[in-house]
Amino acid sequence: SQGVTVQELAEALDVSPNDIIKRLFLLGTPLTMTQSMSDDLVELVADDLGRQIKIVTPEEENTFSFYDDPKDLKPRPPVVTVMGHVDHGKTSLLDAIRHTGVATHEAGGITQHIGASQVMINGRQITFVDTPGHEAFTAMRARGAKITDVVVLVVAADDGVMPQTVEAINHSKAAGVPIVVAVNKCDKPDANPDRVRQELVEYGVIPEEWGGQNMFVNVSARQKTGIDDLLETILLQADVLELKANPDTFASGYIIEAKLDRGRGPVATVLVNRGTLHVGDTLVAGMSYGRVRAMLDQHGNNVKEAKPSDAVEILGLNSVPAAGDEFRVFEDERDARDLAEQRSLKARIEEQNKVKHVTLETLFSEM
Ligand code: GDP
Ligand code: MG
Repeated sequence: SQGVTVQELAEALDVSPNDIIKRLFLLGTPLTMTQSMSDDLVELVADDLGRQIKIVTPEEENTFSFYDDPKDLKPRPPVVTVMGHVDHGKTSLLDAIRHTGVATHEAGGITQHIGASQVMINGRQITFVDTPGHEAFTAMRARGAKITDVVVLVVAADDGVMPQTVEAINHSKAAGVPIVVAVNKCDKPDANPDRVRQELVEYGVIPEEWGGQNMFVNVSARQKTGIDDLLETILLQADVLELKANPDTFASGYIIEAKLDRGRGPVATVLVNRGTLHVGDTLVAGMSYGRVRAMLDQHGNNVKEAKPSDAVEILGLNSVPAAGDEFRVFEDERDARDLAEQRSLKARIEEQNKVKHVTLETLFSEM
């Protein structure tokens, strides 16, 4: 590896470069601001400054590994993503679904956008994640984020299979996520739901009634018909998957979306996939860390805890993490801070290397 320069380490640790140079001198390794340090030296100097830095391998850095005893696993609700071609009715369908959830559960409750929503059907929960498009889904998957158990593929009955329908099928298959097909706009006079079924056969999405693996439901997001049927079908598909998680441990999961709110600071929607997240927990998400100051559900209500498959908005992070970042609760706040700092440091180095690289290429292309 290239190593970290004295200046970069000083910035990452928020100390003066002279402080580091002095310590390096005392350690018998005089270096200047722009010289780089070995991993061992970085750890030594950081230790000297009362900070623990451990240089981690990319594998260690990007994934947390967990082990659960099978006896600790309990059933958890399904997490669902709606995908499909533009204008086939993804947003309308999510609205119709949320309306159902609100109508049956929290009459009059105002749903606000947090990037995910939970609905109840027959006393069971389903969590919907609003991935802002296929690219986000692909990006998250590329980072190893497992954010969805079931994909609802929306296909307009008057339009049939289109390019982004095929793209969605490919994404779902590559991720090994089962597809439930919502044949939408069945209210339209020129709707042909059977033609949608026929067209999808070519892409390996075959209705159960034709001997295939996929459940199909005819719906109209506009007239709100078939919505309960769709939700029940999602639960049937979830039952097949036997989704489980250990709720009785420190929480981990993924960032669904995050932003900087003028009044509230960094705000992130997290999807818990293991353990239970509590107000007061300290977590790391990508390069951010912090203590959870408050948790809110999609109606803006304060909640005290979030269980596996729950999505909640959290306040209290020191910076804005990226969608798809994994989060994890730490017992010790210092460990959390150290990991977040290490990551920022590494990102800064990578950024600088990129800059150098680009400069070099530009130089050559101009020759
Ligand atoms: P998205 O791009 O997939 O999110 O699609 P939208 O939800 O924005 O819907 C695109 C257009 O189709 C809008 O004008 C909707 O009003 C309309 N639409 C959505 N669902 C239905 C439906 O079930 N029936 C009819 N007739 N129109 C629909
Ligand atoms: Mg939309």
